[in-house]
Amino acid sequence: MSQSIQSVRGMNDILPGESESWEVFEQTARAWLKSYGYRPIRLPIVEPTPLFTRAIGEVTDIVEKEMYSFEDSLNGERLTLRPEGTAGCVRAVIQHNLAAQRPQRLYYMGPMFRHERPQKGRYRQFSQVGVEAFGFAGPDIDAELILMGARLWSDLGLEGVRLELNSLGQPGERANYRAELVAYFGKYADSLDEDSRRRLRTNPLRILDSKNPAMRELIAGAPKLTAHLGAGSMAHFEGVQQVLRDVGLAYEINPRLVRGLDYYNLTVFEWVTDRLGAQGTVCAGGRYDGLVEQLGGKPMPACGFAMGVERLVALMRESGDDPEPDAMDVYLVHQGDAASRLAPRVAESLRDAGIGVLFHCGGGSFKSQMKKADASGAAFAVIIGDDEAGAGEVTLKALRAEGNEQKRVGLDRVADEIMNAFFDGDDA
Ligand code: ATP
Ligand code: MG
Repeated sequence: MSQSIQSVRGMNDILPGESESWEVFEQTARAWLKSYGYRPIRLPIVEPTPLFTRAIGEVTDIVEKEMYSFEDSLNGERLTLRPEGTAGCVRAVIQHNLAAQRPQRLYYMGPMFRHERPQKGRYRQFSQVGVEAFGFAGPDIDAELILMGARLWSDLGLEGVRLELNSLGQPGERANYRAELVAYFGKYADSLDEDSRRRLRTNPLRILDSKNPAMRELIAGAPKLTAHLGAGSMAHFEGVQQVLRDVGLAYEINPRLVRGLDYYNLTVFEWVTDRLGAQGTVCAGGRYDGLVEQLGGKPMPACGFAMGVERLVALMRESGDDPEPDAMDVYLVHQGDAASRLAPRVAESLRDAGIGVLFHCGGGSFKSQMKKADASGAAFAVIIGDDEAGAGEVTLKALRAEGNEQKRVGLDRVADEIMNAFFDGDDA
Protein backbone atom coordinates (compact mmCIF):
# COMPACT_ATOMS: atom_id res chain seq x y z
CA MET A 1 0.00 0.00 0.00
CA SER A 2 1.42 3.38 -0.93
CA GLN A 3 1.67 6.15 1.62
CA SER A 4 -1.24 8.57 1.70
CA ILE A 5 -0.69 12.21 0.85
CA GLN A 6 -1.44 14.84 3.50
CA SER A 7 -2.55 18.42 3.02
CA VAL A 8 0.10 21.14 3.06
CA ARG A 9 0.97 22.27 6.60
CA GLY A 10 -1.13 25.26 7.60
CA MET A 11 -3.62 24.65 4.79
CA ASN A 12 -6.71 23.02 6.22
CA ASP A 13 -9.67 21.00 5.08
CA ILE A 14 -12.94 22.30 6.47
CA LEU A 15 -15.15 19.30 6.97
CA PRO A 16 -18.91 18.89 7.32
CA GLY A 17 -19.78 19.70 10.90
CA GLU A 18 -17.67 22.85 10.71
CA SER A 19 -18.36 23.83 7.10
CA GLU A 20 -22.00 24.52 8.01
CA SER A 21 -20.77 27.30 10.31
CA TRP A 22 -18.79 28.72 7.38
CA GLU A 23 -21.96 28.76 5.28
CA VAL A 24 -23.87 30.54 8.02
CA PHE A 25 -21.02 33.04 8.21
CA GLU A 26 -20.96 33.59 4.44
CA GLN A 27 -24.70 33.93 4.10
CA THR A 28 -24.88 36.35 7.01
CA ALA A 29 -21.97 38.36 5.60
CA ARG A 30 -23.48 38.59 2.10
CA ALA A 31 -26.81 39.88 3.43
CA TRP A 32 -24.99 42.34 5.69
CA LEU A 33 -22.82 43.68 2.85
CA LYS A 34 -25.86 44.10 0.65
CA SER A 35 -27.64 46.07 3.34
CA TYR A 36 -24.81 48.65 3.22
CA GLY A 37 -24.74 48.78 -0.59
CA TYR A 38 -21.40 46.97 -1.13
CA ARG A 39 -21.07 45.05 -4.39
CA PRO A 40 -19.07 41.89 -5.00
CA ILE A 41 -15.84 41.94 -6.96
CA ARG A 42 -14.09 38.66 -7.81
CA LEU A 43 -10.35 38.87 -8.12
CA PRO A 44 -7.58 36.46 -9.16
CA ILE A 45 -5.72 34.53 -6.48
CA VAL A 46 -2.40 34.98 -8.28
CA GLU A 47 -1.01 38.43 -9.07
CA PRO A 48 2.33 39.78 -10.32
CA THR A 49 4.75 39.88 -7.38
CA PRO A 50 5.59 43.61 -7.80
CA LEU A 51 1.96 44.47 -7.04
CA PHE A 52 2.45 43.31 -3.46
CA THR A 53 5.98 44.58 -2.92
CA ARG A 54 4.88 48.03 -4.11
CA ALA A 55 1.55 48.09 -2.27
CA ILE A 56 2.36 46.44 1.04
CA GLY A 57 5.91 47.75 1.45
CA GLU A 58 9.31 46.02 1.35
CA VAL A 59 9.84 46.17 5.13
CA THR A 60 6.73 44.36 6.30
CA ASP A 61 6.18 40.85 7.65
CA ILE A 62 4.30 39.92 4.52
CA VAL A 63 6.84 41.02 1.93
CA GLU A 64 9.91 40.12 3.98
CA LYS A 65 8.97 36.55 4.76
CA GLU A 66 5.38 35.52 4.17
CA MET A 67 4.73 35.55 0.43
CA TYR A 68 4.37 32.41 -1.67
CA SER A 69 6.12 33.54 -4.83
CA PHE A 70 7.17 31.58 -7.87
CA GLU A 71 8.23 31.99 -11.43
CA ASP A 72 5.80 31.29 -14.23
CA SER A 73 7.64 28.49 -15.99
CA LEU A 74 6.39 29.63 -19.40
CA ASN A 75 7.55 33.25 -19.43
CA GLY A 76 9.59 33.71 -16.28
CA GLU A 77 7.16 36.26 -14.78
CA ARG A 78 7.36 36.55 -10.98
CA LEU A 79 3.96 35.67 -9.50
CA THR A 80 2.60 35.55 -5.93
CA LEU A 81 -0.35 33.85 -4.25
CA ARG A 82 -2.19 36.83 -2.85
CA PRO A 83 -1.37 37.43 0.84
CA GLU A 84 -4.21 39.95 1.14
CA GLY A 85 -6.90 41.44 -1.06
CA THR A 86 -6.51 45.20 -1.05
CA ALA A 87 -3.62 45.35 -3.52
CA GLY A 88 -5.47 43.26 -6.11
CA CYS A 89 -8.65 45.21 -5.58
CA VAL A 90 -6.84 48.50 -6.14
CA ARG A 91 -5.18 47.06 -9.23
CA ALA A 92 -8.58 46.09 -10.61
CA VAL A 93 -10.09 49.49 -9.83
CA ILE A 94 -7.25 51.19 -11.73
CA GLN A 95 -7.20 48.69 -14.58
CA HIS A 96 -10.95 49.00 -15.23
CA ASN A 97 -11.25 52.66 -14.36
CA LEU A 98 -13.92 51.62 -11.88
CA ALA A 99 -14.22 54.63 -9.63
CA ALA A 100 -13.69 57.32 -12.28
CA GLN A 101 -17.37 58.29 -12.52
CA ARG A 102 -18.60 57.69 -9.02
CA PRO A 103 -17.35 56.25 -5.76
CA GLN A 104 -17.40 52.48 -5.39
CA ARG A 105 -18.23 50.26 -2.47
CA LEU A 106 -16.77 46.79 -3.09
CA TYR A 107 -16.23 43.52 -1.30
CA TYR A 108 -14.59 40.14 -1.90
CA MET A 109 -14.27 36.85 -0.04
CA GLY A 110 -11.74 34.11 -0.45
CA PRO A 111 -8.44 32.48 0.40
CA MET A 112 -5.22 34.37 1.15
CA PHE A 113 -1.76 32.80 1.51
CA ARG A 114 1.02 33.69 3.92
CA HIS A 115 4.02 31.61 4.84
CA GLU A 116 3.59 31.91 8.61
CA ARG A 117 4.28 29.48 11.43
CA PRO A 118 0.98 27.62 11.73
CA GLN A 119 -0.76 27.85 15.11
CA LYS A 120 -4.26 28.38 16.41
CA GLY A 121 -5.79 31.25 14.44
CA ARG A 122 -2.78 31.55 12.13
CA TYR A 123 -2.66 29.48 8.98
CA ARG A 124 -0.86 29.46 5.64
CA GLN A 125 -4.08 29.42 3.70
CA PHE A 126 -6.77 31.44 5.41
CA SER A 127 -9.88 33.20 4.30
CA GLN A 128 -10.79 36.86 4.42
CA VAL A 129 -13.80 38.99 3.67
CA GLY A 130 -12.46 42.32 2.47
CA VAL A 131 -14.43 45.52 2.10
CA GLU A 132 -13.06 48.55 0.21
CA ALA A 133 -14.54 51.97 -0.53
CA PHE A 134 -13.01 54.12 -3.28
CA GLY A 135 -13.51 57.82 -3.89
CA PHE A 136 -14.67 58.96 -0.45
CA ALA A 137 -12.40 61.41 1.33
CA GLY A 138 -14.33 62.31 4.49
CA PRO A 139 -14.47 60.64 7.88
CA ASP A 140 -18.08 59.57 7.27
CA ILE A 141 -17.04 56.53 5.25
CA ASP A 142 -14.41 55.52 7.83
CA ALA A 143 -17.16 55.60 10.41
CA GLU A 144 -19.48 53.59 8.15
CA LEU A 145 -16.86 50.87 7.76
CA ILE A 146 -16.45 50.72 11.52
CA LEU A 147 -20.18 50.63 12.21
CA MET A 148 -20.48 47.80 9.69
CA GLY A 149 -18.18 45.67 11.81
CA ALA A 150 -20.27 46.17 14.91
CA ARG A 151 -23.38 45.13 13.02
CA LEU A 152 -21.83 41.98 11.64
CA TRP A 153 -20.72 40.83 15.09
CA SER A 154 -24.25 41.32 16.30
CA ASP A 155 -25.75 39.59 13.23
CA LEU A 156 -23.45 36.64 13.94
CA GLY A 157 -24.38 36.64 17.62
CA LEU A 158 -20.81 37.42 18.73
CA GLU A 159 -20.10 39.20 21.96
CA GLY A 160 -16.99 40.72 23.45
CA VAL A 161 -15.43 42.04 20.22
CA ARG A 162 -14.02 45.44 21.04
CA LEU A 163 -12.89 48.28 18.83
CA GLU A 164 -9.43 49.86 18.90
CA LEU A 165 -8.85 53.02 16.94
CA ASN A 166 -5.91 55.23 16.02
CA SER A 167 -4.83 57.80 13.48
CA LEU A 168 -1.56 57.45 11.59
CA GLY A 169 -1.80 61.00 10.26
CA GLN A 170 -0.21 61.79 6.93
CA PRO A 171 3.20 60.57 5.70
CA GLY A 172 4.80 63.97 6.35
CA GLU A 173 3.59 63.99 9.94
CA ARG A 174 4.97 60.50 10.42
CA ALA A 175 8.44 61.62 9.30
CA ASN A 176 8.90 63.78 12.44
CA TYR A 177 7.55 61.02 14.60
CA ARG A 178 9.88 58.53 12.99
CA ALA A 179 12.90 60.58 14.06
CA GLU A 180 11.60 60.69 17.62
CA LEU A 181 11.01 56.92 17.63
CA VAL A 182 14.48 56.21 16.31
CA ALA A 183 15.93 58.34 19.12
CA TYR A 184 13.81 56.53 21.73
CA PHE A 185 14.43 52.96 20.60
CA GLY A 186 18.06 53.84 19.82
CA LYS A 187 18.59 54.44 23.54
CA TYR A 188 17.42 50.88 24.23
CA ALA A 189 19.09 49.20 21.26
CA ASP A 190 20.46 46.46 23.54
CA SER A 191 16.97 45.46 24.68
CA LEU A 192 15.55 45.26 21.16
CA ASP A 193 14.96 41.88 19.60
CA GLU A 194 16.60 41.12 16.30
CA ASP A 195 13.60 42.08 14.15
CA SER A 196 13.20 45.37 15.95
CA ARG A 197 16.89 46.24 15.70
CA ARG A 198 16.70 45.76 11.96
CA ARG A 199 13.52 47.78 11.78
CA LEU A 200 15.05 50.59 13.72
CA ARG A 201 17.01 51.25 10.54
CA THR A 202 14.45 50.28 7.93
CA ASN A 203 10.98 51.03 9.29
CA PRO A 204 10.91 52.05 12.99
CA LEU A 205 7.10 52.41 13.14
CA ARG A 206 6.86 48.71 12.54
CA ILE A 207 8.54 48.08 15.90
CA LEU A 208 5.28 49.15 17.52
CA ASP A 209 3.58 46.28 15.68
CA SER A 210 5.91 43.68 17.22
CA LYS A 211 4.23 40.53 18.54
CA ASN A 212 7.13 39.71 20.87
CA PRO A 213 5.90 39.92 24.51
CA ALA A 214 9.46 40.77 25.61
CA MET A 215 9.16 44.03 23.68
CA ARG A 216 5.86 45.06 25.24
CA GLU A 217 7.16 47.25 28.04
CA LEU A 218 9.58 49.12 25.84
CA ILE A 219 6.85 49.74 23.28
CA ALA A 220 4.47 50.96 25.95
CA GLY A 221 6.95 53.69 26.91
CA ALA A 222 7.51 54.86 23.32
CA PRO A 223 6.49 58.38 22.27
CA LYS A 224 3.05 58.69 20.71
CA LEU A 225 2.23 59.63 17.15
CA THR A 226 -0.84 61.61 18.19
CA ALA A 227 1.34 64.53 19.30
CA HIS A 228 2.57 64.94 15.71
CA LEU A 229 -0.78 65.05 13.96
CA GLY A 230 -1.63 68.26 12.10
CA ALA A 231 -4.97 70.07 12.24
CA GLY A 232 -6.38 68.29 9.16
CA SER A 233 -5.53 64.86 10.53
CA MET A 234 -6.93 65.73 13.95
CA ALA A 235 -10.18 66.98 12.38
CA HIS A 236 -10.55 63.78 10.37
CA PHE A 237 -9.90 61.63 13.43
CA GLU A 238 -12.35 63.69 15.48
CA GLY A 239 -14.93 63.37 12.65
CA VAL A 240 -14.77 59.58 12.82
CA GLN A 241 -15.10 59.55 16.59
CA GLN A 242 -18.02 61.99 16.45
CA VAL A 243 -20.08 59.53 14.40
CA LEU A 244 -19.18 56.65 16.71
CA ARG A 245 -20.24 58.68 19.72
CA ASP A 246 -23.47 59.81 18.00
CA VAL A 247 -24.38 56.20 17.22
CA GLY A 248 -23.27 55.04 20.64
CA LEU A 249 -20.50 52.68 19.56
CA ALA A 250 -17.83 52.19 22.21
CA TYR A 251 -14.17 52.43 21.16
CA GLU A 252 -10.77 52.68 22.69
CA ILE A 253 -7.95 54.79 21.24
CA ASN A 254 -4.80 52.70 21.02
CA PRO A 255 -1.85 54.97 20.17
CA ARG A 256 0.34 51.91 19.44
CA LEU A 257 -1.94 50.65 16.71
CA VAL A 258 0.08 51.05 13.51
CA ARG A 259 -1.01 48.02 11.46
CA GLY A 260 1.34 45.68 9.63
CA LEU A 261 1.16 47.21 6.16
CA ASP A 262 2.75 50.39 4.87
CA TYR A 263 -0.11 51.81 2.88
CA TYR A 264 -2.27 53.22 5.65
CA ASN A 265 -2.81 56.87 6.58
CA LEU A 266 -5.24 58.65 8.94
CA THR A 267 -7.74 56.20 10.43
CA VAL A 268 -6.66 52.69 11.39
CA PHE A 269 -8.71 50.27 13.48
CA GLU A 270 -8.84 46.72 14.74
CA TRP A 271 -11.60 44.59 16.18
CA VAL A 272 -10.18 42.44 18.95
CA THR A 273 -11.43 39.66 21.21
CA ASP A 274 -9.91 38.08 24.30
CA ARG A 275 -11.65 34.77 23.64
CA LEU A 276 -9.29 33.35 21.03
CA GLY A 277 -5.97 33.48 22.85
CA ALA A 278 -3.00 35.16 21.20
CA GLN A 279 -4.59 35.56 17.78
CA GLY A 280 -7.33 37.94 18.92
CA THR A 281 -7.63 40.38 16.02
CA VAL A 282 -10.63 39.33 13.96
CA CYS A 283 -10.84 42.35 11.66
CA ALA A 284 -8.53 45.20 10.77
CA GLY A 285 -8.47 48.11 8.40
CA GLY A 286 -8.07 51.75 7.75
CA ARG A 287 -7.59 54.48 5.19
CA TYR A 288 -5.06 54.23 2.38
CA ASP A 289 -5.38 57.45 0.37
CA GLY A 290 -1.97 57.13 -1.30
CA LEU A 291 -2.22 53.59 -2.59
CA VAL A 292 -4.16 54.13 -5.82
CA GLU A 293 -1.63 56.68 -7.04
CA GLN A 294 1.27 54.58 -5.76
CA LEU A 295 0.05 51.73 -7.98
CA GLY A 296 -0.22 53.95 -11.04
CA GLY A 297 -3.77 55.29 -10.85
CA LYS A 298 -5.05 58.84 -10.57
CA PRO A 299 -4.99 59.94 -6.92
CA MET A 300 -8.09 58.68 -5.15
CA PRO A 301 -9.01 58.45 -1.48
CA ALA A 302 -9.81 54.94 -0.29
CA CYS A 303 -10.34 52.91 2.83
CA GLY A 304 -11.34 49.43 3.83
CA PHE A 305 -10.89 46.48 6.13
CA ALA A 306 -10.41 42.74 6.07
CA MET A 307 -11.60 40.14 8.51
CA GLY A 308 -10.20 36.71 9.22
CA VAL A 309 -12.94 34.15 8.62
CA GLU A 310 -11.24 31.29 10.54
CA ARG A 311 -11.06 33.43 13.65
CA LEU A 312 -14.67 34.59 13.32
CA VAL A 313 -15.96 31.08 12.72
CA ALA A 314 -13.94 29.92 15.75
CA LEU A 315 -15.63 32.65 17.75
CA MET A 316 -19.07 31.62 16.45
CA ARG A 317 -18.42 28.02 17.42
CA GLU A 318 -16.99 29.05 20.75
CA SER A 319 -20.23 30.90 21.44
CA GLY A 320 -21.79 27.49 21.26
CA ASP A 321 -24.16 27.29 18.32
CA ASP A 322 -23.13 24.63 15.86
CA PRO A 323 -25.76 24.81 13.16
CA GLU A 324 -27.33 21.42 12.45
CA PRO A 325 -27.25 20.51 8.80
CA ASP A 326 -30.74 21.10 7.42
CA ALA A 327 -32.71 17.86 7.76
CA MET A 328 -33.96 16.53 4.46
CA ASP A 329 -37.66 16.66 3.66
CA VAL A 330 -37.94 13.24 2.09
CA TYR A 331 -36.05 9.96 1.99
CA LEU A 332 -37.06 8.04 -1.11
CA VAL A 333 -37.26 4.26 -0.68
CA HIS A 334 -37.77 2.07 -3.73
CA GLN A 335 -37.57 -1.62 -4.55
CA GLY A 336 -38.42 -3.71 -7.57
CA ASP A 337 -37.81 -3.14 -11.27
CA ALA A 338 -40.84 -1.01 -12.07
CA ALA A 339 -40.47 0.94 -8.81
CA SER A 340 -36.84 1.71 -9.40
CA ARG A 341 -37.61 2.96 -12.91
CA LEU A 342 -40.28 5.25 -11.53
CA ALA A 343 -38.34 6.46 -8.45
CA PRO A 344 -35.94 8.97 -10.08
CA ARG A 345 -38.86 10.63 -11.85
CA VAL A 346 -40.77 10.96 -8.58
CA ALA A 347 -37.69 12.40 -6.88
CA GLU A 348 -37.17 14.97 -9.63
CA SER A 349 -40.84 16.01 -9.58
CA LEU A 350 -40.64 16.55 -5.80
CA ARG A 351 -37.48 18.65 -6.27
CA ASP A 352 -39.37 20.64 -8.96
CA ALA A 353 -41.79 21.54 -6.18
CA GLY A 354 -38.91 22.69 -3.96
CA ILE A 355 -38.85 19.59 -1.75
CA GLY A 356 -35.45 18.21 -0.70
CA VAL A 357 -35.08 14.51 -1.47
CA LEU A 358 -32.44 12.07 -0.24
CA PHE A 359 -32.67 9.34 -2.86
CA HIS A 360 -31.82 5.85 -1.68
CA CYS A 361 -28.89 4.53 -3.71
CA GLY A 362 -27.46 1.05 -3.64
CA GLY A 363 -30.54 -1.15 -3.42
CA GLY A 364 -31.25 -3.46 -0.48
CA SER A 365 -34.39 -4.70 1.23
CA PHE A 366 -37.30 -2.45 2.22
CA LYS A 367 -36.36 -3.08 5.81
CA SER A 368 -32.78 -1.90 5.47
CA GLN A 369 -33.84 1.09 3.36
CA MET A 370 -36.43 2.09 5.98
CA LYS A 371 -33.73 1.96 8.65
CA LYS A 372 -31.68 4.42 6.64
CA ALA A 373 -34.75 6.59 6.12
CA ASP A 374 -35.33 6.72 9.90
CA ALA A 375 -31.69 7.48 10.59
CA SER A 376 -31.56 10.23 7.96
CA GLY A 377 -33.70 12.61 9.99
CA ALA A 378 -35.97 13.21 6.98
CA ALA A 379 -39.55 14.25 7.71
CA PHE A 380 -41.14 11.75 5.31
CA ALA A 381 -40.38 8.50 3.60
CA VAL A 382 -41.76 8.22 0.11
CA ILE A 383 -41.95 4.48 -0.49
CA ILE A 384 -42.32 2.93 -3.92
CA GLY A 385 -42.69 -0.81 -4.45
CA ASP A 386 -43.87 -2.50 -7.60
CA ASP A 387 -47.37 -2.51 -6.09
CA GLU A 388 -47.35 1.29 -5.78
CA ALA A 389 -45.70 1.67 -9.20
CA GLY A 390 -48.41 -0.42 -10.82
CA ALA A 391 -51.14 1.69 -9.24
CA GLY A 392 -49.45 5.04 -10.08
CA GLU A 393 -49.13 5.80 -6.40
CA VAL A 394 -46.56 6.03 -3.60
CA THR A 395 -46.77 5.31 0.11
CA LEU A 396 -46.15 8.43 2.13
CA LYS A 397 -44.97 7.83 5.67
CA ALA A 398 -44.44 10.51 8.28
CA LEU A 399 -41.17 9.61 10.00
CA ARG A 400 -41.16 12.12 12.81
CA ALA A 401 -44.90 12.49 13.57
CA GLU A 402 -46.52 10.55 16.43
CA GLY A 403 -47.70 7.14 15.31
CA ASN A 404 -45.76 7.21 12.04
CA GLU A 405 -48.90 7.61 9.94
CA GLN A 406 -48.78 6.31 6.43
CA LYS A 407 -51.05 6.45 3.43
CA ARG A 408 -51.18 5.82 -0.28
CA VAL A 409 -51.14 8.92 -2.45
CA GLY A 410 -51.54 9.33 -6.21
CA LEU A 411 -48.39 10.45 -8.05
CA ASP A 412 -49.85 13.82 -8.96
CA ARG A 413 -50.69 14.52 -5.29
CA VAL A 414 -47.43 13.63 -3.51
CA ALA A 415 -45.81 17.05 -3.61
CA ASP A 416 -49.01 18.78 -2.47
CA GLU A 417 -49.53 16.35 0.40
CA ILE A 418 -46.00 16.94 1.64
CA MET A 419 -46.20 20.70 1.29
CA ASN A 420 -49.56 20.77 3.11
CA ALA A 421 -48.15 18.68 5.92
CA PHE A 422 -45.26 21.13 6.28
CA PHE A 423 -47.60 24.11 6.42
CA ASP A 424 -49.93 22.39 8.90
CA GLY A 425 -46.88 21.60 10.97
CA ASP A 426 -45.97 25.30 10.99
CA ASP A 427 -49.39 26.23 12.37
CA ALA A 428 -49.21 23.72 15.17
P1 ATP B 1 -1.61 39.55 12.61
O1 ATP B 1 -1.20 40.75 13.37
O2 ATP B 1 -2.49 38.59 13.39
O3 ATP B 1 -0.48 38.87 11.91
P2 ATP B 1 -2.13 41.05 10.27
O4 ATP B 1 -1.97 42.44 10.71
O5 ATP B 1 -1.03 40.37 9.55
O6 ATP B 1 -2.56 40.12 11.50
P3 ATP B 1 -4.12 41.71 8.31
O7 ATP B 1 -3.18 41.67 7.17
O8 ATP B 1 -4.60 43.00 8.80
O9 ATP B 1 -3.48 40.85 9.51
O10 ATP B 1 -5.35 40.76 7.99
C1 ATP B 1 -6.66 41.01 8.49
C2 ATP B 1 -7.16 39.84 9.31
O11 ATP B 1 -6.95 38.63 8.65
C3 ATP B 1 -6.45 39.66 10.63
O12 ATP B 1 -6.98 40.52 11.59
C4 ATP B 1 -6.77 38.23 10.95
O13 ATP B 1 -8.08 38.11 11.48
C5 ATP B 1 -6.72 37.59 9.59
N1 ATP B 1 -5.43 36.95 9.37
C6 ATP B 1 -4.26 37.52 9.02
N2 ATP B 1 -3.28 36.61 8.88
C7 ATP B 1 -3.86 35.40 9.15
C8 ATP B 1 -3.38 34.04 9.17
N3 ATP B 1 -2.14 33.75 8.85
N4 ATP B 1 -4.26 33.08 9.51
C9 ATP B 1 -5.54 33.36 9.83
N5 ATP B 1 -6.05 34.60 9.81
C10 ATP B 1 -5.22 35.62 9.48
MG1 MG C 1 0.52 39.06 10.11
